Amino acid sequence: MAKGPTVKELLAQAGELGLSLGRLVLRLQAEELETTEQALRLKMLENLQVMRQAVVEGMTGTRRSMSGLVGGDAKLLEERRLAGKSLSGDVLARTAARALAVAEVNAGMGKIVAAPTAGSCGVLPGVLLTLAEETGARDELLLEALFAAAGIGMVIASQASISGAQGGCQAECGSAACMAAAAGVELAGGDPVQAAHAGAMALKTMLGLVCDPVAGLVEVPCVKRNAAAAANALLAVDMAMAGIKSNIPLDEVIWAMDQIGSAMPCSLKETAQGGLALTPTALQVREGFLGNRER
Ligand code: SF4
Repeated sequence: MAKGPTVKELLAQAGELGLSLGRLVLRLQAEELETTEQALRLKMLENLQVMRQAVVEGMTGTRRSMSGLVGGDAKLLEERRLAGKSLSGDVLARTAARALAVAEVNAGMGKIVAAPTAGSCGVLPGVLLTLAEETGARDELLLEALFAAAGIGMVIASQASISGAQGGCQAECGSAACMAAAAGVELAGGDPVQAAHAGAMALKTMLGLVCDPVAGLVEVPCVKRNAAAAANALLAVDMAMAGIKSNIPLDEVIWAMDQIGSAMPCSLKETAQGGLALTPTALQVREGFLGNRER
């Protein structure tokens, strides 16, 4: 497969044209797909609405996963926040609760936007919907932030992988955190270079994360990893906006992720043959779930 642009190339183009990352990606995509920017904005607006709906649905706490292990946690966290008891702070708790909500909807076979994958679908809505609320950003800017996220996701997909089966969970939740951090900087009024630093900082902290789903289901640890990845992305946004830089450029972090993914054994890449999936509790869950299905 021909490799797409690097982050460095995107930053150079954005600088030359005086565009934000999101606006650049929107322009490039419209050219590549031979369509208009407005048509792409409308398509992205549909995605945004699906994300919002998934948050609303997840917060009701009514969705349960196939195994019954997952569901209702977003509501618990949100209730604690609303009661003013959140120790991690209102913004972080709101972000994490939304990430949980969307991931729970996915685990319960509801409609979500895979961003970049279904397993990591809670991270972007968690971060971006909350930051939009905090900054008062209108949908137009939120859509551009989503294009910025998409641009970073496309770089990762072409230079490395966004698949847990190929690169472990670093490629799913790590990529989602990277995309959300870069997009979050756009929403917060940062420039493309700061966005790339945020993406790099978010991804670096998730390097080496294995994919070890209990009973092979996208439930445990996936749902809670979405909340953690969203919190990580939020912190990366704050760090980048404070002027903190990643010592390793994002392209090189992505390269490192690819190397780590290749070195990772198959048992830790979505096969449910290692890590948490082999714990005694996980094996019991698997036996119970498979047994119930066979009856
Ligand atoms: S543990 Fe595996 S299946 Fe679950 S979110 Fe991560 S990559 Fe996806």
